[in-house]
Amino acid sequence: MTERNQPLGGNDMPRFGGPATMMRLPSATSPEGLDAAFIGIPMDHGTSNRPGTRLGPRQIRDESRMLRPYNMATGAAPFDHLQVADLGDVPINTFDLKKSVDIITAHYNTVLKSGVIPLTLGGDHTLTWPILRAIKQRHGPVALIHIDAHADINETMFGETVAHGCPFRRAWEDGCLDNNKVFQIGLRGTGYAPEDFDWARDQGWTVIQAEECWGKSLSGLMAQIRTKIGNTPVYISYDIDSLDPAFAPGTGTVEPGGLSTRQALEIIRGCAGLNIVGGDLVEVSPPYDPSGNTALIGANLLYEMLCVLPGVPQKTPRGSGMVF
Ligand code: MN
Ligand code: MN
Repeated sequence: MTERNQPLGGNDMPRFGGPATMMRLPSATSPEGLDAAFIGIPMDHGTSNRPGTRLGPRQIRDESRMLRPYNMATGAAPFDHLQVADLGDVPINTFDLKKSVDIITAHYNTVLKSGVIPLTLGGDHTLTWPILRAIKQRHGPVALIHIDAHADINETMFGETVAHGCPFRRAWEDGCLDNNKVFQIGLRGTGYAPEDFDWARDQGWTVIQAEECWGKSLSGLMAQIRTKIGNTPVYISYDIDSLDPAFAPGTGTVEPGGLSTRQALEIIRGCAGLNIVGGDLVEVSPPYDPSGNTALIGANLLYEMLCVLPGVPQKTPRGSGMVF
């Protein structure tokens, strides 16, 4: 196991010291030889309300400092089975959103050619469309598990086709998605009309609004989703604003009545066994996150994605033996 990268331990360097890479992993400049990689996309020029997600990747990396390698709940030890590194940031053009989209696709085309599974630190949600274009090049149309307060399927915003409320409409247009295997979880809030969510349903997508999730475990939902997706390659896109603002206030477009952190863990842990080919965690906005907790939760959810990648065994903990 020693030939695989390991996060720098808290007994080797204080957790608040050393370079702020994701999980204190080694940084890498090339995807060669990696099974999975964390990649940052520092952008917020696709946002429609409060900005700040350009600072998300740095803050998520910083708040990832407390993450230890072993998952006590699922038994996953990802660094024993996968070669993982922090591949740094995509050099987007902060003065040009449309150029940035093409920069992102080209960057991920290169990364994916090496067989790496990318886990992306956002950045605003615009970035998922160019990633999905690259994913399609390698894997064809994919299943999608999209967790968000918003559908992000606008035809345009302010007359523009590229914005953080449009990525899944663009991905659909580009044929990136297997429409019978698209699941949107946590949608809620105010809209303009019922079509805001129903357009997705009309394409064959499954929309699970937040209200359907209130007060429930989502393990049963995830079992059904796993059955429906089967072996199809699947991409996970996690917008932190799917969480209730009580848990994750540090984001740009807040909606009350959201998911709990426990439900978020159930969703991602419920992806174990799927053929995951990539994932992202978007919309963390550090200027609205003075405690750092939103970025910290984002870091944890990215770690949980790593723990359910193909090739990482899961193991039920011993438990208490109590029935209650
Ligand atoms: Mn979104
Ligand atoms: Mn959202």
